Amino acid sequence: MPKAELHIHLEGSIHPHTLLELATKNGTALNARDLAGVERLFRYDSFLGFLDVYRACARCLIQGEDFERVAYEMAVDLAEQNVRYAEVMLSPAQHMQRNMDFDEILGGVAAGFARAHAERGIVCKPAFDFGRQFSLQEALRAVELAQDGMRYGVVAFSIGGDEANYPPEPFVEVFAVAKAVGLHVMAHAGEVAGANSVRGAIEMLGVDRIGHGFRVLEDPELTQILARRGDITFDVCPTSNLLTGVIPLISAHPLRQMFDAGLPITLNSDDPTLFNTTLTNEFMLAAEHFNFNVDEICKVALQSIRGAFMPAAERAALLSSFKHEQAALREELGI
Ligand SMILES: [Zn+2]
Repeated sequence: MPKAELHIHLEGSIHPHTLLELATKNGTALNARDLAGVERLFRYDSFLGFLDVYRACARCLIQGEDFERVAYEMAVDLAEQNVRYAEVMLSPAQHMQRNMDFDEILGGVAAGFARAHAERGIVCKPAFDFGRQFSLQEALRAVELAQDGMRYGVVAFSIGGDEANYPPEPFVEVFAVAKAVGLHVMAHAGEVAGANSVRGAIEMLGVDRIGHGFRVLEDPELTQILARRGDITFDVCPTSNLLTGVIPLISAHPLRQMFDAGLPITLNSDDPTLFNTTLTNEFMLAAEHFNFNVDEICKVALQSIRGAFMPAAERAALLSSFKHEQAALREELGI
């Protein structure tokens, strides 16, 4: 089935052997000397432990060619799963802290995506995901860098990181600037904090998409309003939520409840390497653990085009080709 992925992080998609090679090449301290060591490194027991590992991955990226390599490898991984379009987050604060040149970073990423596009036809667009634990001043600088990055295809600005300790409201001005310069906006919310965080991201920051967002269900009234509006897409990442410990068991994930409540949802892998998952795997989970039938799977796949940050004509063309291919597949398989 043709698919799109809207919630995936470049730094969380680096192949383990690429990570080792980059750490060696760049002389970056990494608490692992071989693949078994990387596997040990990828075992964390909390959301903050996960963020530490994520930062260790980001530190291994130094030169433009490093970004090109990981962008290319990630895009090929997606193309292998029949993903046609992806929006890929980078964490600017991790790289700003190391005084890196964003022309080199984004030039590398764009080159990697262009190569994958030429070979596989997949379209990938970068987005910035700013760690909310960094300062507002740095956030405004990140928006400037994202604006500069629009010539490399950057489409959106987002906040992620430590949601529990850093609510969305202080970012009002940052998001107003991001929107004024023509960036789309989204936020991780309702992942490690409750429904108020989702409400704040929508009402105060004016986001069009929420990363995760499942804790919106703690506020039935807000859930109902958003279901009725239908204009805010929830990019849900079930395996991620299990492995960062924000849900205790996969069966405890409210994916089914979100869908049944009428929220527009997409499925995503978030950090495929760190969570040892793929977008295909997330769709399999929806079918096997949450009883999504064929109609429902098709609807979720189409939502990832409806919620994507792309021009109307491009959206209409992709929607139409996805619908055609879904219909042809269903006929072929008799489902
Ligand atoms: Zn994420």
